[in-house]
Amino acid sequence: MEHEIPESLALMLETVRRFVKQDLEPISKQVEDEDRIPDNIVQTMRDLGLFGLSIPEQYGGLGIGVLGECMVYEELSRANACFRTRIGTNNGIGSQGIVIDGTEEQKGHYLPRLASGEWIGVFALTEPEAGSDAANIQTTAEKRGDFWMLNGRKHFITNGDIADLATVFAVTNKTEKAKGGITAFLVEKTFPGFYVGAIERKMGMRGSHTCELLFDDCQVPAENVIGGLSMVGKGFKTAMKVLDKGRLTMGASALGSAQRLLELSLDYARQRVQFGRPIGEFQAIQFMLADMATQIYAGRRMLYHAATLRDRKGTAVVKEASMVKLFCTEMANRIADMAVQIHGGMGYMKDFPVERFYRDLRLTRIYEGTSEIQRLVIARELLKGK
Ligand SMILES: Cc1cc2nc3c(=O)[nH]c(=O)nc-3n(C[C@H](O)[C@H](O)[C@H](O)COP(=O)(O)OP(=O)(O)OC[C@H]3O[C@@H](n4cnc5c(N)ncnc54)[C@H](O)[C@@H]3O)c2cc1C
Repeated sequence: MEHEIPESLALMLETVRRFVKQDLEPISKQVEDEDRIPDNIVQTMRDLGLFGLSIPEQYGGLGIGVLGECMVYEELSRANACFRTRIGTNNGIGSQGIVIDGTEEQKGHYLPRLASGEWIGVFALTEPEAGSDAANIQTTAEKRGDFWMLNGRKHFITNGDIADLATVFAVTNKTEKAKGGITAFLVEKTFPGFYVGAIERKMGMRGSHTCELLFDDCQVPAENVIGGLSMVGKGFKTAMKVLDKGRLTMGASALGSAQRLLELSLDYARQRVQFGRPIGEFQAIQFMLADMATQIYAGRRMLYHAATLRDRKGTAVVKEASMVKLFCTEMANRIADMAVQIHGGMGYMKDFPVERFYRDLRLTRIYEGTSEIQRLVIARELLKGK
């Protein structure tokens, strides 16, 4: 199966490549040092429509499909993965619950705001006691008249500090839990009882923040259950559908960073001289470069195949999405390690971008489902005969 790139997507990619080269790569170190993306860059991202890549055109987005979205993420992550993260929650986990399971009113009300980047949408599933075991969440929602009262604490929420809208998962039936007792709510930052907690201090991914979100008798109107009344208790399924797509885009982001690391390593191997020769003439270095390029090639073919399959089917490709996330993120981490090795001591220095990529890529094996959880998903699908 070949992936076809429509002309409109080819033009979009051309624009994004120019934006990355001219605007993002030169400020990647500044973003790392200051731990923030400058406002003018965020505004350009809005102007280019990047916040609405995955949102259907009828709701103000570009609706470019999963393959197109993956290709854009590859480009952004060549500079610094935090640029992808800034738009990533609006296109992915922070909007897809509405796109997939929302009512027509919810789509019409929220999606245009997310697509334009006027609002930031986030996804709040993880809690201190419920990470991989997401069905064990403790946040509760109790019906009181026309409102649901949410109580609990989420942590590690990407873009939580700048969120305008959170898709929040809470227990509405303690005995049923994932089998019919978890509900997805659309919570606006202005709802009484919604608080942003501490911003967590991370190993990397500076320029992108994760934080706690707190709910203290947070009043959520009854109509803000994703999908409406009939979807009460069905939120866990919504969460799983959202995460499935995220696994492809996460693979794309890791791949983009890996590609940049290969290019940086090639440049360094050509110009660094030891023993009177460029280090690229040593077979040990050549073998690392060859392994990097080969693994990137495999990862890219796998990603484009799975993303094309998903676009054609229009529904989840569970096994393939988990395979892509597992392979591409593990592969990019191996490549980051080789890139540091090729750069020698310079690879360990903050002045060189490989040091940052090495730290940032470590996260990709953990969030949106760890590598171990991806293996469990793949094995479960295989044993089901899929
Ligand atoms: C920077 C960052 C951003 C994040 N953003 C978000 C966000 O926006 N929204 C959100 O809801 N969450 C977010 N997360 C949470 C993320 O998805 C979880 O951290 C992840 O799912 C793992 O959960 P955990 O950290 O609790 O680890 P744990 O689940 O405690 O896992 C610890 C270890 O045990 C392993 N393990 C657990 N269960 C099994 C098993 N059954 N079999 C084999 N091994 C197992 C894991 O693979 C891991 O190696 C973010 C996390 C980080 C670090």
